[in-house]
Amino acid sequence: MTVDYHTHTRLCKHGEGTVEDYVRKAIEVGLDEVGCSDHSPLPDGFDGEHRMTLEEFTEFYRPWVDEVREKFGKKIKVKFGIEADYLPGTEAFTRKFLNENDFDYVIGSVHFLGDLGIDSRKNVYRYDGQDVYELYVQYFATLKNAAASGLFDIVGHCDVVKVFGYRPDRDYDDILRDAMKAIKGNDLVVEINTSGLRKPVREIYPSEKILEIIREMRIPLTLGSDSHRPEDVGRDFDLALELVRKFGDGKITIFDKRKRQEVSI
Ligand code: ZN
Ligand code: FE
Ligand code: FE
Ligand code: ZN
Repeated sequence: MTVDYHTHTRLCKHGEGTVEDYVRKAIEVGLDEVGCSDHSPLPDGFDGEHRMTLEEFTEFYRPWVDEVREKFGKKIKVKFGIEADYLPGTEAFTRKFLNENDFDYVIGSVHFLGDLGIDSRKNVYRYDGQDVYELYVQYFATLKNAAASGLFDIVGHCDVVKVFGYRPDRDYDDILRDAMKAIKGNDLVVEINTSGLRKPVREIYPSEKILEIIREMRIPLTLGSDSHRPEDVGRDFDLALELVRKFGDGKITIFDKRKRQEVSI
């Protein structure tokens, strides 16, 4: 059983294609389930250049999912997901949005530390001259709060702070452990996200170091390509599945209306 729970569409303004394009590709590569998880709206048009509006959600995203379920339901299970930001100050807006919709799962991602969009290419220069260790401390503290917020089912690209290949010059194992403890304590699932292989860091999220902690704490895993182009659906899943065998006992978690179930790959 294989799923890809992390896909985007052109509605986020930095991706291509419709939900149908991703679902067609998922059928082609032989997935059992595919979930769309485009970037969710934020209040007051915040970061509007990277996400759909509430109007676009209602007018396009939601109906696209219904359409493909009707059209391809016999060939593949299509899950209705969303990638929501953990952004202090927007929790009430996001909670309301998530409660008003019957999502199958919600991926929670930390993309911002204050005003710094950490994985945005145009911000790479801001890593220079920063204390990278402090940035990691701040990132994993925010991730901990995200886990404790109760908003999400899945932790998105859980060590995305490494995206441009900047690494702390000090040991930060305690910080990782602390964050993973919060993830476990709040009953979240971590995705193995292959998109890091296509980024400057050239490494899957999370790192093997984190996956060791995940195995030890028995944190459940799921799978996502984080594709922003249909051709990336299921990309590098041979490597991801190997990690599931090694660190997740060969099991992944799937979701239905935010109820989870563990299945063997
Ligand atoms: Zn994106
Ligand atoms: Fe993301
Ligand atoms: Fe994403
Ligand atoms: Zn993402």
